[in-house]
Amino acid sequence: MDLQLTGKTALVLAASKGLGKACAAALVAEGADVVIGARDRGVLETAANELRAHGKGRVLAIPVDVLDPKQAEEIVSATADAFGKLDILVNNAGGPPFGRFETFDDTAWKAAFDLTLLSAVRFSRLVIPHMRKAGGGRIINIVSLSVRTYLANSVLSTSLRMGVTGMAKMLSDELGPDNITVNNVAPGLFLTDRVKDAFPPVTPSGPTLEQMLATRAKDIPARRIGQPAEFGALVAFLASPLAGYITGATILIDGGASRGTY
Ligand code: NAP
Repeated sequence: MDLQLTGKTALVLAASKGLGKACAAALVAEGADVVIGARDRGVLETAANELRAHGKGRVLAIPVDVLDPKQAEEIVSATADAFGKLDILVNNAGGPPFGRFETFDDTAWKAAFDLTLLSAVRFSRLVIPHMRKAGGGRIINIVSLSVRTYLANSVLSTSLRMGVTGMAKMLSDELGPDNITVNNVAPGLFLTDRVKDAFPPVTPSGPTLEQMLATRAKDIPARRIGQPAEFGALVAFLASPLAGYITGATILIDGGASRGTY
């Protein structure tokens, strides 16, 4: 299936590693021109070189901290300037810390708000004029399975991501007439650095990381952890012209891990 992404321009945030990088890789492989952003310039450049080696579209790496409003404005303008327009935004950021409710004070909540909800709000606001000018667009927010089912120790992520899904629903209604779709993609468990770091440290007498992952996989109907490339493929489809009738949706990609029946 041709996803008809050749000639489209995408901005993928938090894309030097993990799920963001996998989204960028899928878009570039399908012919889109992609700007990737993250804070660490060296890691970002390495990722851009990898994407260039495997993809059809052009790749530009621009360092950005999604918490910084000025840097947000600059990367959006630079994307439109570099490739002539902006059709696709993948809103992503490193997730907030894991922990139980009573471990987080106001400062931690405000930081999680800035990272998870306000950054998605701000980037959505910035890209809308470019998408209107292009005659349409795609806004895709990376959220979490926790918006559909209980995940222990994820109170910051769950609370703020529900704000993202609420914002996306409102925005999908307002932007429908502009041919701009707004959707959320909710990952279950994918093997990225963030997930590896969330497991207890490996000790000589304890289980290996592979054994810990295998134990977790027993609770997932697919009996395995997701591959970031599978996540990227879903995002590339949602970003494509073929997905024009999908908007306001939150799509789970979790190997069946959510037992919800809705
Ligand atoms: P990851 O592998 O740790 O990658 C995180 C990426 O975000 C890196 O490129 C990092 O680069 C970038 N980043 C972090 N803070 C940033 C900032 N302030 N500004 C710009 N870029 C920033 O994480 P991941 O697993 O792909 O997770 C991506 C998102 O999906 C997170 O919100 C996570 O909570 C969510 N999620 C993941 C899973 C999963 O199974 N992996 C499940 C549910 C939800 P720099 O550090 O260089 O900036």
